[in-house]
Amino acid sequence: MPFSFDTLAVRAGHQRTAEGEHSEALFLTSSYVFKNAAEAAARFAGQEAGNVYSRYTNPTVRCFEQRLAALEGAEQAVATASGMSAILATVMTLCSAGDHVLVSRSVFGSTINLFEKYLKRFGVEVDYPPLADLNAWQAACKPNTRLLLVESPSNPLIELVDIAALAELAHHHGALLAVDNCFCTPALQQPIKLGADIVIHSATKYIDGQGRCLGGAVAGRQQQMQEVVGFLRTAGPTLSPFNAWVMLKGLETLSIRMQAHCARAFELAHWLSQQNGIERVYYAGLANHPQHQLARRQQSAFGAVLSFKVAGGRDDAWRFIDATRMISITTNLGDAKTTIAHPASTSHGRLSAEERARAGVTDNLIRLAVGLEDVKDLKADLALGLKTL
Ligand SMILES: *Cc1c(COP(=O)(O)O)cnc(C)c1O
Repeated sequence: MPFSFDTLAVRAGHQRTAEGEHSEALFLTSSYVFKNAAEAAARFAGQEAGNVYSRYTNPTVRCFEQRLAALEGAEQAVATASGMSAILATVMTLCSAGDHVLVSRSVFGSTINLFEKYLKRFGVEVDYPPLADLNAWQAACKPNTRLLLVESPSNPLIELVDIAALAELAHHHGALLAVDNCFCTPALQQPIKLGADIVIHSATKYIDGQGRCLGGAVAGRQQQMQEVVGFLRTAGPTLSPFNAWVMLKGLETLSIRMQAHCARAFELAHWLSQQNGIERVYYAGLANHPQHQLARRQQSAFGAVLSFKVAGGRDDAWRFIDATRMISITTNLGDAKTTIAHPASTSHGRLSAEERARAGVTDNLIRLAVGLEDVKDLKADLALGLKTL
């Protein structure tokens, strides 16, 4: 019988060495030694399997890749230096000049920059349909559409897309669907099982889980992942073995951490929605969220990022944020430490006022990425912000 998720998270991918270590070994080495010149020649020529250089392969990185692939239900996963290099590697291997890509409008800001500032210069066309509107995706597909890229749920307004329906739409148009699964992680959502072709990760977030290292990954079919391997080997944004080791150990506790993150976020979202001065809370676990039912169907929990609008404008949002004492003012997420941020002036600050309005990122919006502190202390800290309203 195949092992279940929690067992795979602890054990998949580990190949114990002759030392008999119980915890996974950290192979902090850039290159590998050959028995003789003939072996070196055979490995370089690809005639013989084995390590050559850590830009190509590393046992610690491989262990992380195999464990993540098992958790995502993917044939293969390939680790990258960061979430952004995972997205870059995906586009560089799947797309050529003249290809068209559809990216959901509400993706991570650097993803938009990557397309607008760089990939467009190399002839990759891109459009940005609104995430939740399947008709808009349908209308935006063109004969040269090669790839659809989404984040679900989105940042900061926690919108979702029906992944199974979007995968079907993509395949109907001869395109592939890639899902950036950073907010849910495989512990809450497994896009490949829903029909997506590729999963992208910023392992920097919940997979590390304690805000220490940057890392990323791409997962999918072996044939496509071999192309990604080839790109990394040539272009170099590979994950360092040290970071891979941290991420690998992070996977062991991912499932229970996500449950704890989600439970706190769920409680805070309900509590915040009852407080004076809070205009609206955005969280898929609230029954009034327009995609609450989809979230129940598609995810095993509602995630740990939520946003809320305070009565007033930018000054009121800033005063709220500045009044908190414990919660960290930073835009990172997926950390044991709860973070608070003002999207309009940080993550979405580079957008024009019009683009921000279209994205729904108003000046009174605050984003909270709920960590693992006691929810009582989180409420007390947020209450300091509420008092300023
Ligand atoms: C942080 C993030 C990224 C980028 O990841 P890095 O590891 O910082 O390069 C991509 N997508 C999402 C959804 C993110 O939150």
